[in-house]
Amino acid sequence: MEEKIPYKIYLSEDELPKQWYNVRADMKNKPAPLLNPGTLQPLTLEDLNPIFCEELNKQELDNDTKYFDIPDEILSFYKMYRPSPLVRAYFLEKALGTPAKIYYKFEGNNTSGSHKLNSAIAQAYYAKKQGLKGVTTETGAGQWGTALSMASTYFGLDCKVFMVKCSYEQKPFRREVMRTFGASVTPSPSNTTNVGRKILEEHPGTTGSLGCAISEAVETAVSNEGYRYVLGSVLNQVLLHQTVIGQEVQTALKKYGIKPDILIGCTGGGSNLGGFATPFIGEMLRGEADYKIIAAEPASCPSFTKGKFAYDFADTGRICPLAKMYTLGSQFIPSANRAGGLRFHGMSTILSQLYHDGLFECRAVEQTEVFKAAVTFARAEGTLPAPESSHAIKIAIDEALKCKETGEAKTIVFNLSGTGYFDLVAYERYNSGTMDDVIPTDEELEKYFAMLPKVD
Ligand SMILES: *Cc1c(COP(=O)(O)O)cnc(C)c1O
Repeated sequence: MEEKIPYKIYLSEDELPKQWYNVRADMKNKPAPLLNPGTLQPLTLEDLNPIFCEELNKQELDNDTKYFDIPDEILSFYKMYRPSPLVRAYFLEKALGTPAKIYYKFEGNNTSGSHKLNSAIAQAYYAKKQGLKGVTTETGAGQWGTALSMASTYFGLDCKVFMVKCSYEQKPFRREVMRTFGASVTPSPSNTTNVGRKILEEHPGTTGSLGCAISEAVETAVSNEGYRYVLGSVLNQVLLHQTVIGQEVQTALKKYGIKPDILIGCTGGGSNLGGFATPFIGEMLRGEADYKIIAAEPASCPSFTKGKFAYDFADTGRICPLAKMYTLGSQFIPSANRAGGLRFHGMSTILSQLYHDGLFECRAVEQTEVFKAAVTFARAEGTLPAPESSHAIKIAIDEALKCKETGEAKTIVFNLSGTGYFDLVAYERYNSGTMDDVIPTDEELEKYFAMLPKVD
């Protein structure tokens, strides 16, 4: 049996999931509703429709529909790069000398280099269906902007990306990929919006922040006829679209009669872990199976392990809705020396509720250990992992080494959310020994917790 498991388990096009799975339908304790920042009342479709696409808002607020059919246009786009392979990490197992069986789902096999395309194409589709002219968004590290530019051009939509200025300057190649796919890319803060001009006046020479880029993208969407704002993580709709990942993993494992013991994913806003793990968490919620699920988060931005489960603003500017989530406080900004993504102060409300209810655990890992794991993985498996994904690799290696001690042959599956070709500045720092970890102290975090809005 064992020898028959191939290096890569590919599924056929026909085995692509035809529906997205909404874990909220199986949750007894639903995620708390988003609140209107002005009235502190639960957000309604009327609140959301001027900013986001209508059909996506319905998905956002739907706690009851268990499955949403994937429209044919989206399915045919998925066929360009899906189903993605589930890889048996035979080489990594050998390098570690572990009896554990390690698998990874590889989501980096498209030009955007990450799982983000799974939701970008869905969001672009609904924008087109609504008859819009275009979409606006922000991008930090650049993966989301790239995914959205690919998806927008496919449906003939205009795509305006506000890219945090320091990334815009540090990652000119990312910017050029987006432009190649037809997006316009503006370094943020810019003088094209009121909020950008105000920030530039107050802080000349600033290199920008994600919070500021969000404000510019939202302003541009609401002040231009036929435009809406779209977001690549955190939202319920994004987790929903990403469930193609976990459902494919279930199909692939079932094909070979494999039952996973441990499932691992990294968490920034929660979309890749949510998409990878919620189909399995659904089995747990329905009492059909039990798994050990582990979220891997950066020690420098430890939302789950150090954050509070409370209502907080989703943005630094405190204009976006409030969400009940694990948060470090909306004014928390991770150390500038932190490489790569996973920098958001909060977390998906779905994952926050599931974590609160004990359906998975979380471990915080330091970035030097993460890059050490990334290098081990790259040398063994021949794929250069994204720094974000490498948080999951680090935990997978830890678990595999535990098996080496106990002699247990556990089955470990992790999500390799993307590749690291645009993160070579971070790899350079690691390879030359100049990378370190800046971890927020409890006293520092208390300062931000004291600023949490008083709701309840
Ligand atoms: C954006 C991104 C992440 C983090 O975001 P989540 O929403 O938590 O998944 C992780 N890995 C890669 C490769 C990304 O591009």
